[in-house]
Amino acid sequence: MSIELRARDFAVAGSSIRTVTKFDLAEDTKVWWGGVTLLTNLPCGNELPLSSSEVFCEGFLESGTYVRERELSVSRRAVPTLIRKNVHYLIRASLSVGKLDRYGEAFKIVSEKPIKIRSEQRFEPNPVSLTIKGMSFNIEKDAVQPGEVIKLNYKTEGLKLLTVDLVNDSNISCSCPKYAKVCVHIKKNPPEILTTVEEKNPTRGYLSIRVPQYAEHSYNYFWEPTERTQWSQTFGAYSHWYLDITCIKVTGESIKFQIPINIVLPPMEEAGLFEEAKAQNILKGKLLPQSIEVSVEQKEKEKLVIHVTNNTKQELKGVTIKVVGIKEELFETAPYMLGIKRLPTGKEVELNYELREKNVQSFQMSFEDNEGNVITKRIKIKPTKN
Ligand SMILES: [Zn+2]
Repeated sequence: MSIELRARDFAVAGSSIRTVTKFDLAEDTKVWWGGVTLLTNLPCGNELPLSSSEVFCEGFLESGTYVRERELSVSRRAVPTLIRKNVHYLIRASLSVGKLDRYGEAFKIVSEKPIKIRSEQRFEPNPVSLTIKGMSFNIEKDAVQPGEVIKLNYKTEGLKLLTVDLVNDSNISCSCPKYAKVCVHIKKNPPEILTTVEEKNPTRGYLSIRVPQYAEHSYNYFWEPTERTQWSQTFGAYSHWYLDITCIKVTGESIKFQIPINIVLPPMEEAGLFEEAKAQNILKGKLLPQSIEVSVEQKEKEKLVIHVTNNTKQELKGVTIKVVGIKEELFETAPYMLGIKRLPTGKEVELNYELREKNVQSFQMSFEDNEGNVITKRIKIKPTKN
């Protein structure tokens, strides 16, 4: 039993990732769940799944190979890969094998692949000037690259000492109340002074503050689920920079204020960065819906017998048929899936679906195969008299 997972190495927040997964089953297998998930390991140790796509629901798969393509969306609000903050992402394809005689999972096999999530925040440079207690300060632009110099012009009176600290406040925040293991409160790092520049008895001139080459860029990310659930899982990361300015007057009075600064990265040059926004299908299924014939019989009160016939001119491989009952046109009953290694031309497959609920008037059949053909049909149940 093995899983092979293919996907690109990176994705941009706000786009999606195409995955192709090959599930190889050496023997007939009772399945509990199978699918692909994009996730990150949170700093507290919990996992945060950003998106997930199902391949197999509860059911039975014949031995053989099942190739499936799925798309994983990447939230626009995702905290991107941040190596310094140890934020990394991976795609996990998993197959959860069911217990033979009972409900639930017996064991799971997985295949994982790291992926880089990118999200670029842009900061336009702006001049800053301010006047405070008869003194004036200005900088030409508040967005600089690592290694650049910030030139702070000043005009003061009656000052004994002017001190400027370049400060970085950078942290990660995580709140995972939904896990049994409640998120440990992540210890906040205090703001860090990277550079200090002083001038004694200043009157008029400028101070040069060099941004260290190793300075982390500015960002502010905050992820929360799009659907408001009963628990609010959040995950954030920020890196804020500012000049912390202290003026000590000859009288002993001290005046403090801050000027926010953005440390920006040189623009990304990699071609094709935004081409991924509309991901293309990799598998090119092109069967016509009418070439897959579906019929149903209600043999007993709680049992549907569904026949699916291959009316195409080709043998279909790695076929799955998923059946879900529809109640009152709206509610779905527990799905069931059957996997068939090969379905030759003209042959049919029989699937027994147990109606665990009353008033199921129709059902939905979803067909999928290794070529990427996906056919979905809604069929009404006509009860047959015994
Ligand atoms: Zn947490």
